[in-house]
Amino acid sequence: MNIGNWLSRIGLHAPQRPAILSGKDTLLTYGELHSRVAALSLALAQEFGVKKGDRVGLVANNHPHYFEVVFAAWYAGAVIVPVNAKLHASEAAWILKDSNCKLVFSDAAHSEALAAACGQAVINIASDQYDCLVATSATGLPADRAPDDTAWLFYTSGTTGKPKGVIITHRNLMAMTACFLADVSSIRDTDHWLYAAPASHGAGLYGLPYFLKGARHVFPVSGGFSPGEILDLSSSISDISFFAAPTMVRRLIQSARDTGHKGDGFSTIVYGGGPMYLSDITDAISQFGQKFVQIYGQGESPMSITVLTRQMHAAEEVSERTRLLSSVGISQSFVEVRIADENGMEVESGETGEILVRGDTVMSGYWQSPEATRQSIRDGWLWTGDMGAMDDDGLLFLKDRSKDLIISGGTNIYPREVEDALLTHPGVAETSVVGRPDEEWGEAVIAFIRLEEGADVSREDLDEHCMKQIARFKRPREYIFVSELPKNNYGKVLKTELRRLAAAPDG
Ligand code: AMP
Repeated sequence: MNIGNWLSRIGLHAPQRPAILSGKDTLLTYGELHSRVAALSLALAQEFGVKKGDRVGLVANNHPHYFEVVFAAWYAGAVIVPVNAKLHASEAAWILKDSNCKLVFSDAAHSEALAAACGQAVINIASDQYDCLVATSATGLPADRAPDDTAWLFYTSGTTGKPKGVIITHRNLMAMTACFLADVSSIRDTDHWLYAAPASHGAGLYGLPYFLKGARHVFPVSGGFSPGEILDLSSSISDISFFAAPTMVRRLIQSARDTGHKGDGFSTIVYGGGPMYLSDITDAISQFGQKFVQIYGQGESPMSITVLTRQMHAAEEVSERTRLLSSVGISQSFVEVRIADENGMEVESGETGEILVRGDTVMSGYWQSPEATRQSIRDGWLWTGDMGAMDDDGLLFLKDRSKDLIISGGTNIYPREVEDALLTHPGVAETSVVGRPDEEWGEAVIAFIRLEEGADVSREDLDEHCMKQIARFKRPREYIFVSELPKNNYGKVLKTELRRLAAAPDG
């Protein structure tokens, strides 16, 4: 089955339902959206020769036309390749070339540079040319597709090396959506999904359950993440849910605090994609109340490995709540999760090993990389590259990416534990801990620290603080104070860059 059917069924049976909003204003109903998508998919096939299985690239900020292109590709039986618009034009061009896109769509801000970088015609979704393509009258329905046909090529954010194309099938997206509805939130047709984070990634993937249920899609007018704009929208629109990376949640809470905003219009705030520290989620709950759900996933099992539900966030007993909030929850409804040693043998409960996932959400492989696929999927299990430990009651505690693990004096040190300890110091705003090659110990623990504005904290203070909380051998050998941590376009800290800085002679 083609995921495109999720739009056509609502478009035909409930054509008057509001579908796409730009800020507070409704732009399109489901009936209008379906017609425009049918017209665009006809143009894809007839004018541009797009056939089933061909790739269609999309490099755009969040824009009310975003999903027209996504669904038009699906209606035509093609594969959509959404690319993070914050990438440099040459990086985006690399992805479009790697996936061999037949046709590329972009927005006003990126079309020109992208066309120059990829040497290919690019259609601007905010142009007269585009308006003509969606305006013809067409009644086509989504092409026949099998569940295992590719729907979405998802390029991993690549905190190391070149991104890899993850092959996400229609079945994967159906299973992800089933997990959303079972574990994250139910959806009514009057609910709103807000594109606060890039639609090319988690925010876009989680838009799909909202298309399935014929709910409303809100695109901030700025096209980006602006805490003030989001808080403003939540004052005039109710029942808004969205996905945000932990750094975005932190910025939103800061802004809400400054303006006394309590997030009244928010329904569910889903966060994930990177570690959320205990102190940050505790602050967030005290500002907005119990609206938070955490998911742990990766492109290779999109949004779907574990979930820390709204109820888990609300556990009454303090030590139990702390335990839950330090975890990433339990396996999502339609996947299996286990922890294995390097030979694939399940480890004892509470022991750390690599996190393995199996289920219909797991990618069918990496685009044109059979070797990388063989390494990642073994005996049907996806090896995530993340380290974690699972409790007797199924709670998963993420440690680190296997490559982020620090081995000092033959002992494993998980940077996350050291970061958690440092973050409880009131003067520390952000931290990231990496290993540095060390002749004596193999690796030494190095902490990069961004202090709160105006905080006066010395290395000795931090050392003393760590000694109170973690084993002596885990405490950083060196503290490096920075004004900013290097991050990729999704806000994930670039540990590779930090390792390079830490290893530099003047690091
Ligand atoms: P990506 O494939 O770009 O979405 O990156 C996925 C990676 O982000 C995972 O393999 C984890 O290392 C990390 N990640 C995702 N969700 C979480 C989470 N809830 N907590 C901590 N790290 C996460």
